[in-house]
Amino acid sequence: MNVAQIVLATHNAHKVAEFQAIVARVRPDLEVVPYDGPEPVEDGTTFAENALIKARAAAAHTGLPALADDSGICVDVLGGSPGVFSAYWAGHAKDDGANLALLLDQLSDIRDPHRGAHYNSTVALVTPGGVEHTVEGLWPGRLADAPRGGAGFGYDPVFIPAEQDGAERTVAEWTAEEKNAVSHRARAFVALEPLLATL
Ligand code: IMP
Repeated sequence: MNVAQIVLATHNAHKVAEFQAIVARVRPDLEVVPYDGPEPVEDGTTFAENALIKARAAAAHTGLPALADDSGICVDVLGGSPGVFSAYWAGHAKDDGANLALLLDQLSDIRDPHRGAHYNSTVALVTPGGVEHTVEGLWPGRLADAPRGGAGFGYDPVFIPAEQDGAERTVAEWTAEEKNAVSHRARAFVALEPLLATL
C-alpha cells in the first residue's frame, strides 16, 4: 500500500503532539490527520481492546489507515489499576488533577520501595482493508509522594521514570523532547515502526 495520510483517532492535544513528533521521525512522508468522525463506545477492558475499537472506527469512517492508542498508568500495589480507567479514576469528569489527588491519597501509606508503577501505551494500527495490529510500550518507574513540575499532563507530575540522572525528576520536570524519546508511546512506536514501513 502506498499512502500519504494516516488518521489519528485521539482528541487529547498532548497525545496528538507526541504522535506527530514520533511519526515525523519514523515516517516523515506521512501526514497525520485528526479523526473527526463519530466516536465509538470505548467499552473494552484492556488497553488493546480499546485501542482497536478506536482505530477500527476511524479506519472505517475515513478509508485511511488509522492509529489509536489507549494508555494509562498501572500501579503495582493496586494490582495494575488505574489501568484502562486512568482517565476516569476520580469519576467521569476526566479531571487530571482530581485523578492525581485520588491516586496519591490511595498510596499515602505506601513508602518507597513499594511505589512501583509503569505507563502502558498500546497502539492499534488498522487498515481500511481490515488488517489489524497492536503493539505495546511499557515505561517503568515509581510514584513520587507529591506532584512536582509543570510540563506534560495526567500523572506526569508524580511519575519518576526508572532511568534517572540522579536528580529524581518527575516527567513533568522533563522537557517534551526527553519524554518523547523514551516514553511508553515512544516505545510502542519502536514496535510500530516496521508496521508503519509497510504502509
Ligand atoms: P486514554 O486517553 O483513554 O488513553 O487515557 C489515558 C489516560 O492515562 C490519561 O487521561 C492520563 O490520565 C493517563 N496517561 C496516559 N499517558 C499519559 C502520559 O504520557 N502522561 C500522563 N498521564 C498519561
